[in-house]
Amino acid sequence: MIYYKTREEVELIKESGQILGKAHGEVAKWVKEGIKTAQLDKIAEEFIRDNGGVPSFKNYNGFPYTLCISVNEQVVHGFPSEYEVKSGDVISIDCGVFYKGYHSDSAYSYAVGEVDADTKLLLQRTKESLYKGIEAAVYGNRIGDVSSAIQDYIDQFNYGIVRELVGHGLGKNLHESPEVPNYGKRGRGPLLKEGLVIAIEPMINLGTRRVVQESDGWTIRTQDHKPSAHFEHTVAIFKDKTEILTTHEYIEQNIN
Ligand code: MG
Ligand code: MG
Repeated sequence: MIYYKTREEVELIKESGQILGKAHGEVAKWVKEGIKTAQLDKIAEEFIRDNGGVPSFKNYNGFPYTLCISVNEQVVHGFPSEYEVKSGDVISIDCGVFYKGYHSDSAYSYAVGEVDADTKLLLQRTKESLYKGIEAAVYGNRIGDVSSAIQDYIDQFNYGIVRELVGHGLGKNLHESPEVPNYGKRGRGPLLKEGLVIAIEPMINLGTRRVVQESDGWTIRTQDHKPSAHFEHTVAIFKDKTEILTTHEYIEQNIN
């Protein structure tokens, strides 16, 4: 069952997305060598609560933190911890905000200090693939058009597209129908209709697409221990436009 949103509901998701974007921006100021990832989690939680929101991920199916922080070979769902960020790390930060009854969801991957050229390219191209997906996320298209736009862009680089985890609808619930895979065939899947709100979130590996789950029951990492990148926006489909409801603007203002 897909819940289509009214313009008013989309406005509330956008408000939620603004708090989320600014929370990401506060975190971005501190993503640097020597910071413990648990400190980043505290910064995000305080900012979200001070602005009237609730961290969407905290306690979601028992997830214990505000942020998913996934380092290097970790793909998604990593736990903030006493780990100290060091030069050469890829730090992927995923966050969600619940505000006035609606969730927003977005993610960004940072290259800290001296990161090798291949990994930098992985981050750049994963981010580009997100926008390829968004360009295909227009009224009248299908989910498969979004999926194949991401896949077609990524495949030329021989990266691994993670298949076990996908984008999703969202609104009153953090995860709703439909699923939004980062691979697939044009013209397939649910139609993109007025009021559809989806999170598009390519998770791309430098090496194999294969992933494994760590013993904490959450963290997903690459099977070959090569790095992974993750970028995400929440978007709304209207007849006349597709609107990005989250923002990386505050991150990019504050990047070190
Ligand atoms: Mg997310
Ligand atoms: Mg998501």
